[in-house]
Amino acid sequence: MRINTIGNNQLIFLGTAGGRFTVFNQLRKSGGIWFMINNNLFAIDPGPGALVESIKHKVFPNKLSGIFLSHRHLDHSADINSIIESMTEGGHKKRGVVLAPRDATETDPVILKYNRSNYTLINTKEFSVYDIDGVEIQTKAKHKHTVETYGGIFADRFAYIADTSYFDELPLYYNVGIVIANVVFCHQRKGFKHMNADDVYKFIDVYKPDKFIITHFGLSFLKEKPWEVAKSISQKTGCDVIAAYDGMVVDL
Ligand SMILES: [Zn+2]
Repeated sequence: MRINTIGNNQLIFLGTAGGRFTVFNQLRKSGGIWFMINNNLFAIDPGPGALVESIKHKVFPNKLSGIFLSHRHLDHSADINSIIESMTEGGHKKRGVVLAPRDATETDPVILKYNRSNYTLINTKEFSVYDIDGVEIQTKAKHKHTVETYGGIFADRFAYIADTSYFDELPLYYNVGIVIANVVFCHQRKGFKHMNADDVYKFIDVYKPDKFIITHFGLSFLKEKPWEVAKSISQKTGCDVIAAYDGMVVDL
């Protein structure tokens, strides 16, 4: 089997799992989204298996310029310490920037403290712009999730809508050409602060990107075949909606 990797101005899904059951039974991988812009490599949300998946796909963590952590839930953060250790070559090289909410570094830290002097840690805030090696990362409003969570816009090329309940400003904030959203459910489930497939219609109704990619699938959504749901949304809206799969590469 051919294992995909990426070159400059591409991203790769090292995982498309969402929700406890899918992630912690590894029904899909959960290594996050990795991208390269201006020949700089970045990782978003390195969940369980990120280290193994990154090396398998030849996006080597010791080449990373930065890591963006949306929030501290384990399906997003479980491998972040291993990735940091690899990025800094076990502390032998002081390099790299980690963007993470304060909640993930202080309140209930998922990022260990002992090696923080080996890289630059920045606590992400709402409506901020960060420049890492010439690649601009923007945050918008805090998401409506159970812990402090931010999505991002990366070099104005793609948006990542991390875990959140849908809210009306989402299509106004994340209005770039490629939009990636964590859509855990096919239909709304009471009591969960996550998007569902019906929310994708609401988003596209306000702002239609060139490409809308859904990912982070829970078990109930996997049973509904997300690629068929995506096709049906595309047909009804005229927007190119795609269900991500593990190892999928996207040109930026
Ligand atoms: Zn979460």
